[in-house]
Amino acid sequence: MKNRAFTLAIAAILVSVTSPAAFGAQTEKMDSYLAKGALLTKWPKERMPISVYISPGNSVPGFKDSFKQDAKISFAQWEAASQGKIHFAFADDPNTAMIRLNWTNDRTKLTPRQDEIPAGEARCIVTEVGIDSCVITVLTVAPMPGEKFNDNMLHWVLLHEIGHALGLTHSTEAGDIMFINFSDAALIRPPMLSTRDKTTLEKLYSDAVKLDFSQKGIFDEAAKLKGVSVTHDVENDTAVDAVDAHNFDKAIAIYEKLMVERPNMKLYRDNYIGTLNKAGNEAIDNQQYDTGCGYLEKAYRFEPGDVATEANLGRANLYRADHIAQNGQYAESEPYYKRALEVLPKQRADWIAQAANNYAYALMQLSRRDDARRVAATYWTEIHQTYPTPE
Ligand SMILES: [Zn+2]
Repeated sequence: MKNRAFTLAIAAILVSVTSPAAFGAQTEKMDSYLAKGALLTKWPKERMPISVYISPGNSVPGFKDSFKQDAKISFAQWEAASQGKIHFAFADDPNTAMIRLNWTNDRTKLTPRQDEIPAGEARCIVTEVGIDSCVITVLTVAPMPGEKFNDNMLHWVLLHEIGHALGLTHSTEAGDIMFINFSDAALIRPPMLSTRDKTTLEKLYSDAVKLDFSQKGIFDEAAKLKGVSVTHDVENDTAVDAVDAHNFDKAIAIYEKLMVERPNMKLYRDNYIGTLNKAGNEAIDNQQYDTGCGYLEKAYRFEPGDVATEANLGRANLYRADHIAQNGQYAESEPYYKRALEVLPKQRADWIAQAANNYAYALMQLSRRDDARRVAATYWTEIHQTYPTPE
C-alpha cells in the first residue's frame, strides 16, 4: 500500500484492521482478548456520541433494505455492551460523520491480508489522542463467488467491523465476534456478542486503559507492521494522488475544504503545509519565482514558525534575488534578499551566508558601501562559517 502521508513526521496513522498480524496480537487472559503490547486505541470520552453515517446502498448490487436495519442493530449491540461508555448517533452528513459505513459488491475494493478473503474492513485514523474517524466497508455479496451469503452473515460482518472501529483487535477463539473467521454457523442465527467480546470492550474503555502514545516510536512501529499503513480516507487519498501528479492546486483546494470540516485533524494541516512547500519548491526550481514564493508565503502565514517552510521560503527569495541580480538589476533584487534574511531559520547558516554575501555584493554595485558593510557585519558569523577566510 502506498505511503500516503508525506510530512516529515508521522502525524496520524490509518490502522486497517483485517488480520491479527496487524497488531501482533497476543491474548491476555481467558476472559478477554485485549491485545498486550500492541497499539491500543479507542475513542476518547470527549468525542461521544460517535456520529455514524450509513450510506444508502440502494444502487449497490446485492444490497437489501434490511441491511441498514442490521447495521443499526449492530451499533446498538456494541453500545449496549459498553455499559454506558460508548454512544452512537446516526447522522445525515457523510462529511462530518466520525464513522462512515459504505457498501460494495466489488470484492477488489477490500484489501486482502495474507490468505484471508475479506468480507469487510474498517480503516481508522488514529492520532495520539485516540481514534479520530473510521470508514467501514462491507460486502453486499458473498466474499467468494458461489458461496452462501445471507442477512445473518452480513450482520456478523457488521458487528466484527464495528468492533474494529471501536479499537478491538482479533480474538483467537471461534465463539467471539472478533474471531478472524466466521463459520457456517454464522449463517444460521443472528449473531450475538460473546461474553469475551463484551469483557474486552469493557476493559478497553475502562479508565485503567490509558493510551500512551508518548512511547517513542510507537507510530513508526505500528506503521511498519503488516496491514498498517500511513494513509487516510478517500479525500486525502485523492489529494495525495494529485500531489503525485504535480496537480498541487487541486490538492491544496481539497485540504482547504477538509480543514474547514475537521479543523482538528493534524494530518490535513501537515499535508497541506507539505503540499504548499512541494508546490513552492518545484516552481522555484523551474524559475517560476512569483508562483513559488506565493505558495511558500501561504504556508508561512498558515503556520508561522515551521522551520522547513521558513527554510524553503528563504531559499526561494534568495534564488529569486540572485536571478534578478545576475541580470544586473541590483536594486530590484534587494527586497528578495531582505525577505530571505528575514525568514531563513538559523539552522540554515549556509543560506543566510549566501544571502548576506550576495546582498552585500549587490549593495556595493549600487555604491551603497555603508549598507553593504552593515549587512556583512550583521551576518558576519554565518558568512565566516560558510566562507572561511584563509589564515
Ligand atoms: Zn477482523
